Amino acid sequence: MNEMNQKKVLFTIFGATGDLAQRKLYPSLFRLYRTGSLAESFAVIGTARRPWTDETYRDIVKETIAYLNPTEQEAVEFASHFYYQAHDVNDTHHYDTLKILANKLDEQYQLEGNLLFYLAMSPNFFGTIVSHLESQGMLSSDGYHRVIIEKPFGTDFETANKLNDEITSVFSENEIYRIDHYLGKEMIQNISAIRFANNIFESMWNNRYIDNIQITIAENLGVEDRGGYYDKSGALKDMVQNHILQVLSLLAMEPPVAFSEKEIRAEKIKALEAVRIYTPEEVKENFVRGQYDTGLLNQESYTGYRQEPGVDEESETETFVAGKFTIDNFRWSGVPFYVRTGKRLTEKGTRINIVFKQVPINLFKSEVGKKCEQPTLEPNILTIYIQPTEGFSLSLNGKEVGPSFDMLPIQMAYRNSTETMENTPEAYEKLLLDALNGDGTNFTHWHEVAQSWRIVDVIRQTWDENTPEFPNYPAGSMGPDAAFELLKKDGFKWIWTPDQWYRDRNLL
Ligand code: NAD
Repeated sequence: MNEMNQKKVLFTIFGATGDLAQRKLYPSLFRLYRTGSLAESFAVIGTARRPWTDETYRDIVKETIAYLNPTEQEAVEFASHFYYQAHDVNDTHHYDTLKILANKLDEQYQLEGNLLFYLAMSPNFFGTIVSHLESQGMLSSDGYHRVIIEKPFGTDFETANKLNDEITSVFSENEIYRIDHYLGKEMIQNISAIRFANNIFESMWNNRYIDNIQITIAENLGVEDRGGYYDKSGALKDMVQNHILQVLSLLAMEPPVAFSEKEIRAEKIKALEAVRIYTPEEVKENFVRGQYDTGLLNQESYTGYRQEPGVDEESETETFVAGKFTIDNFRWSGVPFYVRTGKRLTEKGTRINIVFKQVPINLFKSEVGKKCEQPTLEPNILTIYIQPTEGFSLSLNGKEVGPSFDMLPIQMAYRNSTETMENTPEAYEKLLLDALNGDGTNFTHWHEVAQSWRIVDVIRQTWDENTPEFPNYPAGSMGPDAAFELLKKDGFKWIWTPDQWYRDRNLL
């Protein structure tokens, strides 16, 4: 790699012993090291409460990258850039020792004062950390100062706003990188390519040709060992406020004048601002929630949510949400955006279905001079597969081979090959590189966060005023009946129905 592209930077990772740092950050840094974006001039300070030595820390870092099969020499050289500092974020004195180490490493590795802080800790600590970084003079170096922040960003608009005030009193908006790792995924970025590089889609991307849009983020896992955290959050805050609304804004935004951070963000914000903020009555009509019960899938039985470790036995937390968003602008008026997400669903998968309007009559079933039957054709559907497979497909109607004129849905599909998938960078790797390049396109702007909370808060408040009838869907299914009714009453249906495949074979 060209030396000009090699980044000079000191990473300081708060929460260095944690799950996120070990599972995502160290492997991503190693991939950047391998591709040459990070070479000699980078160093990492890991800080957390445990009293580790540099040696222990480096051994852990090496363990976390072992699955990427580095050579011994590669692993040792990479890990030699890592330094550990035991640190309690509430203790002012600790920032002084952190600063001494930071200055030493800056000189040793010639980092030109570039500082990137990664807050891989509970958001409760963000305010404390940033205010100490400033008060203890850690932000006085010559280079850039950036901070990457993990979700959740607040628990509602009010707490998010307070957190934002704390952070922006130290860092300016363009120095803040709010991670939504969905935005680092290859196929999420591909939404823009599909829309803006294909005239057949962009010219039809509106309420004249599109019937409805469906976004599904399905997980087949339960809450695993995150019961304690999840029980306080629930699917609405954990998935809808961030990932789903981000995907929705990319689908709904107007074409930006240029494919740049400033222009894309401006369009995403406008799209979110056009999403209707529901009244409590509208919430009841348009949103449903669910919680999984025990269930049987593929001869394997699963416990209910209330029996999961760390979860209240009478928990009213939702593990499933389905809803209809309405976008009040010229392009989307009248087009429902259906979304759903949940745990312990039939299959893991994130996909988007763009359902196009039907032709006005089914010519193959009509007769001259007689009232036309409603078209019984299958609609044309553009499906974007985000994970676990990546790609897209388009379903069209063709003639079935034979003497009759029966229609047959035909799917034209493109999937990225396993080889391509293996070589695509991980979401965190891409986002880290973006932050090193100072490119905030794939991070969430405060205005997006704020508007997403405003949209979601009224749903939460309405739900909190009513006791749900939980549990209401068996583990292994695609959610409660109400989620299917939601579309049925509009004359639509969920396009992706993995549960049907299992039901047809008596596996569910
Ligand atoms: P974790 O509990 O595994 O790690 C927390 C880290 O914070 C540990 O290193 C711990 O030592 C440190 N810490 C806690 N209190 C401290 C204190 N007073 N002083 C210094 N260090 C302290 O958590 P995690 O799963 O790594 O998640 C970190 C953040 O990332 C959270 O905000 C979480 O919501 C978010 N996140 C995590 C994941 C994930 O996959 N783990 C995914 C998305 C977002």
